[in-house]
Amino acid sequence: MTDKIIPLADIRYASRVPLVPAELLSPTGLLADTQARPLRDLRISVTDRCNFRCSYCMPREVFDKDYAFLPQSSLLSFEEITRLAKVFVAHGVEKIRLTGGEPLLRKHLEVLIGMLAKIQTPSGQPLDITLTTNASLLAKKAQSLKDAGLQRITVSLDGLDDAVFRRMNDVDFPVADVLRGIEAAQRAGLLPIKVNMVVKRGTNDDQIIPMARHFRNSGVVLRFIEYMDVGATNGWRMDEVLPSAQVIERLQAEFPLSAIDPNYRGETAERWRYADGAGEVGVISSVTHAFCGDCNRARLSTEGKLFLCLFASQGHDLRALLRGDFSDAQIAGAVAQIWQNRSDRYSELRAVMPADTMPGDGLKRVEMSYIGG
Ligand code: SAM
Repeated sequence: MTDKIIPLADIRYASRVPLVPAELLSPTGLLADTQARPLRDLRISVTDRCNFRCSYCMPREVFDKDYAFLPQSSLLSFEEITRLAKVFVAHGVEKIRLTGGEPLLRKHLEVLIGMLAKIQTPSGQPLDITLTTNASLLAKKAQSLKDAGLQRITVSLDGLDDAVFRRMNDVDFPVADVLRGIEAAQRAGLLPIKVNMVVKRGTNDDQIIPMARHFRNSGVVLRFIEYMDVGATNGWRMDEVLPSAQVIERLQAEFPLSAIDPNYRGETAERWRYADGAGEVGVISSVTHAFCGDCNRARLSTEGKLFLCLFASQGHDLRALLRGDFSDAQIAGAVAQIWQNRSDRYSELRAVMPADTMPGDGLKRVEMSYIGG
């Protein structure tokens, strides 16, 4: 099979307008796909813009001053996001994660959080609402986010060494400001705080132990994410991936650990506890141990396209339904049909990893900034 190189913009806009079924059934909260995977987790990208230029996510060469970010009119409004969120919750979603781009760059985000916080699950429970941020604006916003109804937060931080971190974010942003953001989130009670560190072999793997040492005994749960290198085509490269098993080995040599059970089925991180009671760490093995089998996540892009996988090449254009003359029941019917037809294609493909390359078949990572990593 030959690799097909698809320009980024084409991928971003690749989508189809969903079919609305003629017969509409009321959502039961029990929607399942062809592999009996429920729909529990919705990740909503609220902006495609970011103030960092991390080389592995929004590299400066692509996201330069000429890059065409989405115009305001393309973005889902807060009302549109909330309308869709209600549909997804009726189908079983219990957790909403706001992401981006950098979600704190979206103006008046607190208003959206307030609107989402009013939604309840069919059994009357509040939603678990969280947000992933680079923390550049967190010191200023932590309290207002909490007041609006945000419960907890995940911060991305790739190292404690200032030179390493400034190089990785490529906008010269200092570690100290991220740490100040984390402290503000702690004071505001956005708990438990998780910190995600993407590990790139040869770039920041020397930061694993200092990061672990820093966050031990702090109540913060540090998680190491395998760097996903999908390259410019469909090939997966392993040169810069440090497998989670090796991260754990390095940690074990310094701080004895024992494995602990997942909090729930489908959790992305494998959890480990420090034997001396200093807290827990996790690893997210997106490359060496793909977790597609339990994947219960859907992703809503900044302009309202529904993606069923981080690596999907095509989305389902829910904005077309929102802005067309469709009722909530019709949109719910369309979403149900999409999820029920969700196949195991990606897990089959990913099961063969880590191979040198992945099969082509049009499979390609959609921009992280667009559907949120
Ligand atoms: N701007 C926010 C932030 O920095 O957390 C949210 C968006 S960012 C795309 C979400 C997460 O995806 C971050 O933790 C980031 O490190 C991770 N990420 C982005 N590109 C990645 C890659 N190639 N491999 C692994 N993780 C990646």
